Amino acid sequence: MHKCPVCKGSTTPFRDPQLSIMYHVCDTCQYVCKDSTTHVSAEREKKEYDHHQNTFNSTGYVARFQRLIETFIQPYKTEGAALDFGSGPGPVLYTLLKQIGFEAHHYDPYYYPDKSYLDHRYDVITMTEVIEHLKDPKSVLNALKPLLKPSGVLVITTEFRPESLDEFLTWWYRRDVTHLGFFNAVSMHALFTQTGFTIRSTNHRNTIVVSPTPSD
Ligand SMILES: [Zn+2]
Repeated sequence: MHKCPVCKGSTTPFRDPQLSIMYHVCDTCQYVCKDSTTHVSAEREKKEYDHHQNTFNSTGYVARFQRLIETFIQPYKTEGAALDFGSGPGPVLYTLLKQIGFEAHHYDPYYYPDKSYLDHRYDVITMTEVIEHLKDPKSVLNALKPLLKPSGVLVITTEFRPESLDEFLTWWYRRDVTHLGFFNAVSMHALFTQTGFTIRSTNHRNTIVVSPTPSD
């Protein structure tokens, strides 16, 4: 039996006839993950990322981050230390945060593997289009949590999955071979309950802001 990596609940397998792959959907938190037989090698994964046009030359890409900063970061933090975790080949968000006065850091296991980010504590940590690539999102959040100040915010973007599995099976986002797991509002809530974060805001579509839950 495949256990849900988010809540450890039981899962039900289902097949994607178009892509000829299997998924497991959690019976409790509704998280959908691809079966491990579909996971690609690190070399293949990096090759996919190399093709992403995520640079300052893409005005749409830059505008998306500017909106993210205005809508989901500046209402909470306008200065301090920021970490863009999983920044990819072109660290656009890192650069924008720096430009508006944050003491910015970034890390990416493929492109900026320098682990000096571990030496700081952050007011803001961003994970944009990262969590859907993780085999074990819970352990990554658990590892990042001590790096976030008690009043800090963690900003996560990922496309929330369609609620119906029929719609899921025609959804573009699942086609990327490096996308391994898919959240909806229920599985997001389960992830943050499990890892000790409280939701501050979400657009219920692709962005969610959380803070560490205060311990009594
Ligand atoms: Zn679950």
